Amino acid sequence: MGLTGPYDVVVVGAGPHALALLTRLLVDVDDKYEERPNNERLFSATKKGKFQTKVKDNPQIQRTPRQIAAFLNSKQKQKSCLHNICVVDEYGCWMSQWEKQFDVLGISHLRSTLFVHPDAFDLQSLAVFAAMQKRESEMLDISRSIRGSKFSGPFIIPSTALFWDFCCHIVSNYGLEKYVKKGRVLDIVKTIDCNGCRVYTLTMSDGSKIQAKNVVISTGNTTLKNIPIWAEEIYVANTDRTVLHSSDLIQQSRCKGIGKMPLENMFNALLKLDSQAPSLGWNLKGKNLLIVGGGLSSGHLAIKAAMMGAKQIHLVCRSQIKVRQFDLSLDWIGRGRFKKLADFFSIHCFEKRFQVLQTARNGGSITPNVHEGLTKLIEDGLLTIHEDTDVWSCEQQKQLEESNSKKWVVELSDCGSLKVDQVFLATGSTIDSLKDPLLHHLHKISEVEIVDGLPLLTEDLEWQEDSGLFVMGVYAALQLGPDALNIAGARAGASRIAYKLNKVLGIS
Ligand SMILES: Cc1cc2nc3c(=O)[nH]c(=O)nc-3n(C[C@H](O)[C@H](O)[C@H](O)COP(=O)(O)OP(=O)(O)OC[C@H]3O[C@@H](n4cnc5c(N)ncnc54)[C@H](O)[C@@H]3O)c2cc1C
Repeated sequence: MGLTGPYDVVVVGAGPHALALLTRLLVDVDDKYEERPNNERLFSATKKGKFQTKVKDNPQIQRTPRQIAAFLNSKQKQKSCLHNICVVDEYGCWMSQWEKQFDVLGISHLRSTLFVHPDAFDLQSLAVFAAMQKRESEMLDISRSIRGSKFSGPFIIPSTALFWDFCCHIVSNYGLEKYVKKGRVLDIVKTIDCNGCRVYTLTMSDGSKIQAKNVVISTGNTTLKNIPIWAEEIYVANTDRTVLHSSDLIQQSRCKGIGKMPLENMFNALLKLDSQAPSLGWNLKGKNLLIVGGGLSSGHLAIKAAMMGAKQIHLVCRSQIKVRQFDLSLDWIGRGRFKKLADFFSIHCFEKRFQVLQTARNGGSITPNVHEGLTKLIEDGLLTIHEDTDVWSCEQQKQLEESNSKKWVVELSDCGSLKVDQVFLATGSTIDSLKDPLLHHLHKISEVEIVDGLPLLTEDLEWQEDSGLFVMGVYAALQLGPDALNIAGARAGASRIAYKLNKVLGIS
């Protein structure tokens, strides 16, 4: 099997986080609002490590719309010294998983604001892009519905289509298609080359190997499905696929991501999808469903299932449904954000930082828009929500002679019992770096301290100082803060990693 490299940098995963990193690495930008603790234009620190923000308001406009439009309209020249980068993704193109996820759940608008996106050039880029395309109507101003003591707006959310087209535009504008290679990374080991230099060898699922001087893990937060204990056995046995995790549904999407896929591969992929489609249980007409989980995915799933003709939907969640526009407390966005970050950086006990993360995120929630959709389904008699309820058991009934389908009998903690055809586990993912398919290899390379499953990375998001191994996304939350997994976290993480890589690779 082939060996490629060594590359200067291999990024594993081609989602929005990796895209944010590439744009940050490939363009020279002067960004006052880079959320690095060592960005002296934004933060100051005392000798004792107490941080303060120098900006107490929303970010000011750094460039005029005309300057941004000119940038967006011109093909960007890349730094020649950064050509030795490779991005590996199992789908072989940019943002495929992201697109599929939004497609299967039928998500019309993002949850986050217009000012968070993967383009490093300017916070306003997406807004200017919308104006350039005369698509202002796809920017939904929901400030009035969420304004409160913690937040004074504006809160404008982009449509999924607008955000997607913008990402396609920046991939093309920065010439990023060529960086992505198709493959699933199974293993990472540290080796020493013939010159005595450190090099990482990544083994792919087809047996080929890629070598890299620096590796960035950007594989998202869905790599480890969270399967409730009562569902563990039935989820594994599950030959008729009537028990699915919400992340399994992305196989149903035909979206192809951004970038080129050889025609032959695309044809094979579609054939595979067609052969899988009937067995995935996505034919919901006339079916009774159980959806487990109280987050946004469960809400979207219920609405989508009703649209697809489901007869009766039961949504079971362990707590009360929380209705929030964004998936973390609003004081982390808007004008108080930089102060919150400064306070977070000032905490030097990482267990305490973890508590801040938990308080800010406070479990799963649904948006007001999805809440409205669910309320309508309840009124129409299609949906029952069982709050503060757990599933005690779920067993498949013996096949009834007169029908060819088996039902699941579900016992609930409120003593209720349900009979359903299909179970969807919208129970999110487990965050545990020791169990994560890739990060557990990093623990073998060198041990790092862990706080509740999160590794203690350096300020530059390195596994260990000068290790050349970097981690983006949710696993960087102890450094980045509660929106590490979101697109805001993509910008912040990209800024820190690019800062270090630029130094290591000798790029000013
Ligand atoms: C339904 C839903 C809606 C959301 N809406 C928002 C929102 O509006 N705003 C917001 O800020 N956040 C939102 N989020 C949070 C979300 O996590 C981020 O928006 C984003 O998808 C995370 O990007 P990522 O690059 O970290 O991961 P992903 O988009 O998951 O990309 C990771 C990539 O890594 C690849 N990969 C994984 N393992 C390997 C491997 N071993 N080898 C090779 N490739 C691999 C995958 O194929 C995938 O393409 C939402 C999340 C969900 C589930």
